[in-house]
Amino acid sequence: MTMPEFLGPVFSGLLFSLNLEKSIPLCYLDKSSAYLRYPYLRGGKMAKPEALLIIDMLNDFCLEDAPLYVPMTRKVIPNIRRELDRARAEGTPVIYVCDAHDKDDIEFKNWPPHAVEGSSGAEVIDDLKPLERDIIIHKKTLLGFYGTDLEERLRGLGVGLVTVTGCVTNICVMLIAAEATVRGFKVRVPRDCTAGLDMEMHEFALKELEEVIKAEVY
Ligand SMILES: [Zn+2]
Repeated sequence: MTMPEFLGPVFSGLLFSLNLEKSIPLCYLDKSSAYLRYPYLRGGKMAKPEALLIIDMLNDFCLEDAPLYVPMTRKVIPNIRRELDRARAEGTPVIYVCDAHDKDDIEFKNWPPHAVEGSSGAEVIDDLKPLERDIIIHKKTLLGFYGTDLEERLRGLGVGLVTVTGCVTNICVMLIAAEATVRGFKVRVPRDCTAGLDMEMHEFALKELEEVIKAEVY
């Protein structure tokens, strides 16, 4: 079911005034409507209740001269691209979860400065650039739900299943998968879409994800 274009702003305004925008994200507007805030549906059909998470695929982790270069990211970029293209084709929400640190962030006591908010290092790499309709979550820690509105965004979209991709398998991917699991989300991890600090840690993390966190690793 679609709605005449001129009713778009009326409908959006109604949702806004009732503060229902987040709880009724999949409204019955046509995708072409400029007023559609959640364009994850086609022809008025509801999107599938899942989301693709792309974690920290940022210049400061993925470029060869980056301060925290993770070489394995180069290998997984085309695989994440595959998942991204599929998600977009199917109307699945895409959520980028990205480091965005303060200049004097406490994390820099343990790691070289990286992904400072507003810097080019904190931007998603060109190969996986977000579209305007995608959601970007900025985080300041190794965690993705802590101190962010990631949970509200997922619940607002009616998402129950998240596919987790990105870097680093044995750090943010594993931790965010655990955070999602304890909040009741089902978690899937395509093993060719995550990059570890090295192969040993990558494999360890996938085993941990499967056996302890109970994610579906495939
Ligand atoms: Zn960081």
